[in-house]
Amino acid sequence: MIVGDFEILDERQRLFVRSARLDKLWTGCRWAEGPAWFPAGRYLVWSDIPNDRMLRFDECDGSVSVFRAPAGNSNGNTVDAQGRLVSCEHGNRRVTRTEHDGRITVIADRYQGKRLNSPNDVVVKSDGSIWFTDPTYGSDTDYEGNKGEIEQAACRVYRVDPQSAAVEAMVDDMVRPNGLAFSPDERVLYVSDTGRSHVKDGPRHMRRFDVGDDGKLKDRGVFAECTVGVFDGFRIDTEGRIWSSAHDGVHVLDPNDAALLGKVRVPEFVANVCFGGPKRNYLFICGTTSLYGVRLPVNGAKTF
Ligand code: MG
Repeated sequence: MIVGDFEILDERQRLFVRSARLDKLWTGCRWAEGPAWFPAGRYLVWSDIPNDRMLRFDECDGSVSVFRAPAGNSNGNTVDAQGRLVSCEHGNRRVTRTEHDGRITVIADRYQGKRLNSPNDVVVKSDGSIWFTDPTYGSDTDYEGNKGEIEQAACRVYRVDPQSAAVEAMVDDMVRPNGLAFSPDERVLYVSDTGRSHVKDGPRHMRRFDVGDDGKLKDRGVFAECTVGVFDGFRIDTEGRIWSSAHDGVHVLDPNDAALLGKVRVPEFVANVCFGGPKRNYLFICGTTSLYGVRLPVNGAKTF
């Protein structure tokens, strides 16, 4: 059932307030990605990858300004437990952290001595480890990065150890790993694969991995197939539901059986989302040229 800006597929779940509306907060991007919410500053930072800039939305007055340009064609961003910005940079083929004094620290730019492909999305676990995906989109062409030689034999999911800073490959059998997020209890890691961009009838699904007590991943296989376009970036709410980008908006998936529970209908392809606002009940949506948002009756999980 379609109600305004929402499609309700399971009426038992109160995912939306029917009178709420999709807010169009700003437009003018070429490909909006990587939203990250800074609670203390009450602002959102996101990436406009082809325009090589990061933008900032100020919740206090609704204004938007340039946060950083050039920005290494940044893509996915997140905020760690200390409130620092962690960014994937297509153009520089690295993951960085912006320290409290503004210095930029390189977290990872190589694996086994070879340059990364083009880090795409990143999440920080509560133990401080930094997990990121490394498909090739930022190195395939100059559109959203720098066209360059691919040195890695695979597109992997990596983990950066918080103590040793070692970069460890955690998943190496995906075609183009893209978005990733942990369940609220961090016992499950979800990773989307947008491999259909490079392989005919290739993956457009999300995989699920159990996270063992030893930190190793156990592959649980395909969790969900995307029904419209591909799953790119996504975030998790306090009930463990997955709020994922798709080509007709945001798809909400049940963590138990991957059922599609509902959609936020967005008039552009969606690349990524994140929860923000003082109560983490406002979903920011990066939709191609524009930043959208919607107030929800659910709250984002407090994951970093
Ligand atoms: Mg992505």
